[in-house]
Amino acid sequence: MEDFIIAANLEDLDAESKYLVHKAKEASHHAYAPYSKFMVGAAILLGDGKVVTGCNQENAAYPSGMCAERVALFAAASQHPEQRIVKIAVVAKRKSAKEILPATCCGSCRQVMLEFEQRQEGAIKVVMLNSDHQWIVASSVQSLLPFSFSKAHLEQGNDLHHT
Ligand SMILES: [Zn+2]
Repeated sequence: MEDFIIAANLEDLDAESKYLVHKAKEASHHAYAPYSKFMVGAAILLGDGKVVTGCNQENAAYPSGMCAERVALFAAASQHPEQRIVKIAVVAKRKSAKEILPATCCGSCRQVMLEFEQRQEGAIKVVMLNSDHQWIVASSVQSLLPFSFSKAHLEQGNDLHHT
């Protein structure tokens, strides 16, 4: 499978991805983004077909805020722990504007998504709009985060220390 599908228009994406983008856009309306004014929504498709959404939650103490993707991921893990995550779409816009703006997942969200992918031992597809206004469907989080740090790094050499 190719790492990325790239489409010039949203209409060119598969129906499932388009639906998730639609749900992510809806979720962005609930974003709390008084500082950046950058309204981000994320929608996750679970194995049973349910959709869990999230939106960015900012805070006056900036680092205390949370990205839309992680809000959605943690909600999915909390509410549907038995379900695997199939795909996540992320969408950004300005308040009261219709236009979807380019916004790709930040490094921290990629790191968190990667661990979800490894936990479930199954790829998570990621749908987002890149800076060239192209829609990207990544076939896995791993493809978005090469040379990544993971649980395996923490565990290596443990056996040696115990002998
Ligand atoms: Zn993020």
